[in-house]
Amino acid sequence: MNFSPNSFFRFGIRQKILLMLTLVLLTTLSISSWFSLQEEKQRVMKQIDSRGSDISRFVSKSLTYSIVGYDYHTIDLLLKEITLSDEIGYAKVIDRKGKTMSQAGTLVLDSNRMKTFHQDIILDNDKLGVLILGLNTDTAMQHIDSQKYKSIQRELFITFIIAIAEFIALSFIIIRPVSIISDTLSRSKTSDDVHFIPVSTDDEFGQLAQQFNELNSQLSKANHELQNRVDFADQQLRQSIKELKAQKAELKEINEKFQLLSITDSLTGLFNRRYFEEHLDEEINLTQRHGDTVSLIILDIDHFKNINDTYGHTHGDEALIAVAEVLKNRVRKTDIVCRIGGEEFAILCKRADNQTTTELADNLRKSVQELVIPFDDYKVSVTISAGIATLTKNNFQSHAENLYRFADLALYFSKENGRNAVTHYDDIKVKQKVS
Ligand code: GH3
Ligand code: MG
Ligand code: MG
Repeated sequence: MNFSPNSFFRFGIRQKILLMLTLVLLTTLSISSWFSLQEEKQRVMKQIDSRGSDISRFVSKSLTYSIVGYDYHTIDLLLKEITLSDEIGYAKVIDRKGKTMSQAGTLVLDSNRMKTFHQDIILDNDKLGVLILGLNTDTAMQHIDSQKYKSIQRELFITFIIAIAEFIALSFIIIRPVSIISDTLSRSKTSDDVHFIPVSTDDEFGQLAQQFNELNSQLSKANHELQNRVDFADQQLRQSIKELKAQKAELKEINEKFQLLSITDSLTGLFNRRYFEEHLDEEINLTQRHGDTVSLIILDIDHFKNINDTYGHTHGDEALIAVAEVLKNRVRKTDIVCRIGGEEFAILCKRADNQTTTELADNLRKSVQELVIPFDDYKVSVTISAGIATLTKNNFQSHAENLYRFADLALYFSKENGRNAVTHYDDIKVKQKVS
């Protein structure tokens, strides 16, 4: 049983039952006490009646001869004598004409305090007069009052004892199972675990607990199934996300491959013309913005038509691949090598001036010349001619728009001057003067 101060002072079932029991018991006992008091009162009144009648008869007999002899003195004495007692408070004798012969004591008109008796005084069937006696009822009434207080005390005591006993009994029969059910419900509410009500009686509480427990286990089963489904859905979702991520990565890779393919020359693996043009514009812009120097080399294989004509187009392709390999391997990491036409290549040299680029181009020319390309039983060599133009912040105005054209003019100059040669656009005039 839970008798914590908080729950005791709360106006809960316990308190309500206690109040109800007390009221019912008090009402019942009060009604029964009232009836028993009434009975007691009636019994006492009967006693007084019978006693009064007895005394009246006895006194009237005693007075008979004194009245016949008009012995007022004896009558007075007798009346005074009897009114001296606590029991008789008043006595009066009236003759047959209704005249008072004698009286003693005091007549009290309150019927609760005095009861009056009229007794005829008769001798040989002759009515001599009437005796009026007043019997004090105070003592009897006091007795009844004290009975009443005792009864109230007894009542209160019995009420208290029965209320406590019934309260304890009800606590065990009703409140305890209700408390257990309430505790279990509140624990179920605040925790994820399944709580069953440990009430196994055959009464309504037992049935309630059993129904709750059944409901709880059904709920827990449904919950479990739901959790399983959620877990399964979660797993599937994770799997889908994983697959989607993989697909995304694959797509990204494919995209990158496509992008690479779109800027790559399929035969040599070098960048293609499109990529070259984009970067040429970009480098020109960088020169404009930051004053960077950029050089462009255009290379063309000499008499390549002869290679095709002599060894066939397939071998011609092989020669193109071999030359591209040399170019790719011999440039700096920052240089961009592109195949911009059939047997024509371009190299964008970032932050490379006239001299550096000329040296690089000449080295490339030499490397290609030294290259031996095996065609079946033959070993073939090719040469290249190159033209260079350099864009600096100083010549930006004149060169920016014409960089490719100037490099091409320089290449043309190399071709015109015997091929297997390198010409920088800036040097054309000097070379022309020399020749
Ligand atoms: P030059 O020294 O003046 O440059 O003479 P050339 O023969 O190299 O020049 P021309 O422009 O007359 O010939 C270029 C040849 O390159 C023509 C063409 O058959 C060949 N060619 C162009 N693209 C390819 C290709 O992809 N593969 C092969 N095998 N040959 C190609
Ligand atoms: Mg050529
Ligand atoms: Mg050509």
